[in-house]
Amino acid sequence: MLWLLFTTGACNLRCSYCGGSFEPHVVPWRITYENNKLKQLIERDEDATVIFYGGEPLLNPGFIIWTMNNVKARRFGIQTNGTLVSLLPRDYWRRMDVVLLSIDGREKVTDTNRGRGVYRAVFNAFNYLRSIGVKRIIARMTVTELTDIYEDVTHLLNIGFNYVHWQLNVVWTDKWNIKTWADGNYLPGIRKLVDLFLRRAEEGKVFGIVPILGILNAYLFKPYEGPPCGAGYRAVAVSTDGRVLACPIAVREDWSVLGHINTGFKLMNIQLPEMCMKCEYKPYCGGRCLYAIMEGEKYWGRDGVLAVDYVTRETIKAVLSIAPRIKELINNGVIKTEDIAYDPILDSTEVIP
Ligand code: SF4
Ligand code: SF4
Repeated sequence: MLWLLFTTGACNLRCSYCGGSFEPHVVPWRITYENNKLKQLIERDEDATVIFYGGEPLLNPGFIIWTMNNVKARRFGIQTNGTLVSLLPRDYWRRMDVVLLSIDGREKVTDTNRGRGVYRAVFNAFNYLRSIGVKRIIARMTVTELTDIYEDVTHLLNIGFNYVHWQLNVVWTDKWNIKTWADGNYLPGIRKLVDLFLRRAEEGKVFGIVPILGILNAYLFKPYEGPPCGAGYRAVAVSTDGRVLACPIAVREDWSVLGHINTGFKLMNIQLPEMCMKCEYKPYCGGRCLYAIMEGEKYWGRDGVLAVDYVTRETIKAVLSIAPRIKELINNGVIKTEDIAYDPILDSTEVIP
């Protein structure tokens, strides 16, 4: 199971789509529970992937060090904005199985969204982590109207990221005209990325474009039972106040509270809405996002939800168009099964943007 551990509710940045730190009464800026309770709970899970999360997790390096010294887990990782990597000693970085660095693509796009100088800081962090031997580094993009998905993803792959993942800036942000943008720029860019992925696969190389890998995995190996991020059924988030949550974005919503580290918790039975149950893309999408299912209409209305859904369906359709050929390439030995096998829970990625 995936355990997303909030180390703090505080953040040192104020990105345009996020607004920075949580109010301390929602997600306290320090751990307010007994660490050993967390250890007991996680160690009951023989297959625990522990990912440090925030706020900005590196604002509380002491908790990361304590956890990595004291809690047995199969895998450790972190989702960080990449500006404070010097706060964690290098031996702990070397033990990270996966590091997700937030970067939105090219310098101008990243700095407009995240603040001047952030691109450079993340780029330096990336080079530092590689130089000390961290193997698996994932670029984690937030996609906005400023993004050119083809340009930004290929930029990040070209500078050496092993994997690139992204999320659309929808639902938890002010409503914007996603359909027009997607038809004009995003979806043509997705189709170009899919073509590029196939061209490289024909040469025996699998590109680490996470949404493409994640959708192909559902086609080739195992369909998703719910949102691919695992929210509530394969993944939980532990807030700094000890609440165990289904989704790390849903820190204010009662439906998200599965229990508390002092008293235990119960995983959810994910109920997808009728629209998803009837949808031909359900095996590859799993309903996309639990938060959007529960809260989407409240923020973006029915038409907004349907516009996001249109983008989801077109994205899946583009990836499925190459799926039979990818299967042939595996059967013919051009690409290896292990190169394409991808479980998003192990990396804390969501698959469907
Ligand atoms: S594509 Fe849309 S309707 Fe279909 S399963 Fe995904 S979220 Fe549900
Ligand atoms: S994809 Fe949705 S449900 Fe999953 S972690 Fe992100 S916001 Fe939560």
